[in-house]
Amino acid sequence: MQHFDGNLLAGALADLLSFDATGARARCNGCGTVGELATTIVFRSAAGTVARCAACGQVLLTVVEGDDRTFVNFTGTGAIEIPAR
Ligand SMILES: [Zn+2]
Repeated sequence: MQHFDGNLLAGALADLLSFDATGARARCNGCGTVGELATTIVFRSAAGTVARCAACGQVLLTVVEGDDRTFVNFTGTGAIEIPAR
């Protein structure tokens, strides 16, 4: 099968990542619960933002903002379902 470098992702990811993600549904790696990101329990501090599963408390994602970049980690999220627009 022919393969390409990661630049081929540019168009698809630009479309996916430019929306209000709070309506996207995420699966918790801890308990399997699926729910909209808007229903997570969120903690914010100077160090960053942490979203936890409302059912079990597992960390679903973290967001850490630096001076010139943002780090997002979805380690606790098995999959994210993005509604078609
Ligand atoms: Zn959970």
